[in-house]
Amino acid sequence: MSGGRKNDIQMKEGETMGLIVQKFGGTSVGSTERIMNAAERAIEEKERGNDVVVVVSAMGKTTDQLVGLAREISASPSKREMDMLLTTGEQVTISLLSMALNEKGYESISFTGWQAGIETEAVHGNARIVHIDPEKIQNQLNQGKIVVVAGFQGVTEDGSISTLGRGGSDTTAVALAAVLKADKCDIYTDVTGVYTTDPRYVKGARKLQSLSYDEMLELANLGAGVLHPRAVEFAKNYEVPLEVRSSTERERGTIIEEEPTMEENLVVRGVAFENAITKVAILGLEDSLKGLSTVFTTLAAHHINVDIIIQSVAEGQTGSLSFSIKNDDLEETLKVLENNRDTLKYDRIESESGLAKVSIVGSGMVSNPGVAAEMFEVLSSNGIQVKMVSTSEIKVSTVISDSSMVKAVEALHEAFELSGTPARNV
Ligand code: ADP
Ligand code: ASP
Ligand code: MG
Repeated sequence: MSGGRKNDIQMKEGETMGLIVQKFGGTSVGSTERIMNAAERAIEEKERGNDVVVVVSAMGKTTDQLVGLAREISASPSKREMDMLLTTGEQVTISLLSMALNEKGYESISFTGWQAGIETEAVHGNARIVHIDPEKIQNQLNQGKIVVVAGFQGVTEDGSISTLGRGGSDTTAVALAAVLKADKCDIYTDVTGVYTTDPRYVKGARKLQSLSYDEMLELANLGAGVLHPRAVEFAKNYEVPLEVRSSTERERGTIIEEEPTMEENLVVRGVAFENAITKVAILGLEDSLKGLSTVFTTLAAHHINVDIIIQSVAEGQTGSLSFSIKNDDLEETLKVLENNRDTLKYDRIESESGLAKVSIVGSGMVSNPGVAAEMFEVLSSNGIQVKMVSTSEIKVSTVISDSSMVKAVEALHEAFELSGTPARNV
C-alpha cells in the first residue's frame, strides 16, 4: 500500500472536494430501517460535496448465527469454508445499502472484498491485508457514485475468499481510507464514542473527546472491542484521522489522532478488560535459558498467541515458566508442549483457567511512576489477587480471577477518577 495523505481535488469554483470513508457496524445496519438511516448518513456527506465510500458489517448478529449454523454441522469446520460462509453476511448488507441509496435517488455500486481489490495473506479466519488495488473503487467514485464495500473480507493470491478476524470491518474501512488517501474515516457504531471503559459494564463510564493512536491501540489490543486493533494500526501508520461516533445520535464522537487535544490531562485515560484467559506454567525446566526460546518458537509455529510471560530461575536449579493464553488455545498448547516434551525437558505442566486481564492505559503514565503501585493497591484493598503483571510505557495489565473482573474494573475506574467530570490533574 502506498502512504501519503490529503488528496483534495480542486474544483473549478475553488471549492474543495474531499473523500470520506464511513463504516457502519452490525447494530447500525441491523434492520432495513437502520440501513435506510446509514444511507442517509452517506448522502449527507455526498451532499457536502465529498466522495463517499461506505464499508458495512453483516446485519445485527448475522455472523454469530452463521457460526452457529457451522457448529451444528461440524465441531471443527474447514477454515476455508468458514470464510466462505461468514463473508455472505456482509454481502447481504452491501446490496441492500446500495439499493437504499438508489431508492433515495443516488447512484451507488456495491463491491465484495475481492471486487474492491482487497488482497490478504493466505490465511483463513484472521488474515492481514497485504495489498489494495483502489482502481475499481476510484473509477466508480469518479463517476459520482457512492461506493459500498463489504467489510471483514478479502481474497488471497490464489483466489480464495478470506476474512480479517472478528470485528475486522473496521480494518477494511481504515485500510481503504489509507489507500484512497481519504480525509477522514468515520466509524459509526452503537455507542457515541470511545469511553473510559466499556459503558455496558460500568455505568459511570465517560465519553472521551479525543485519544492518541497509541492509547487507542493499547485499549483495542487489551480488549476494548469498540475498534479492531489492526484498524488502529493502519490509522496510525497512514495517519488517517478516525472518529468513532453514533449511527443514531447526532453528536460529536471521539477523535483518534496523533496529538489529541487534551480536554483533561489524566494519567489514566481508560480501563480495558477481557476474560477467557488461561495461565499455563511449565515447571522443572532443565535448561531455562534454552527452554524460554524453544517454548515460544514452538508455540509461535503453531500460531498460538502467548501474552504475558513470567520466568523464574533459581541459581543451579531447574526453572519455571508461566504464560497467559486465550482459553480457546489451551487444548492446542497442551498438545504442542506434550509433543515436544523431549526437546523442552520439563517436569510437569499446570494450567489455571477462569482468569481475566484488566489493564489501565494512558500516555501520562510515562512520566508518572507509581501508577502501577497505585493499581496494585486498589486491587489488593478490594481483596483481588494479582496473578500476573505486564507493563509498557503507557499501560499496566494484570491477570486476575474472572469472577473479580467487573469489580476490579469498577474500582480502578473510580480510583483513577475516570467517572463523571475529571477532577484530578486538570
Ligand atoms: P460494531 O458492530 O459497530 O462494530 P462493536 O460491538 O464491535 O460494534 O463495538 C461497539 C461496542 O464496544 C460497544 O457497544 C461497547 O459495548 C464496546 N466497548 C468496549 N470497550 C469500549 C470503550 N472503551 N468505549 C466504547 N465502547 C466500548
Ligand atoms: N461481521 C463481522 C463480525 O461480526 C465483522 C465485523 O462486524 O466487523 O465480526
Ligand atoms: Mg466492531
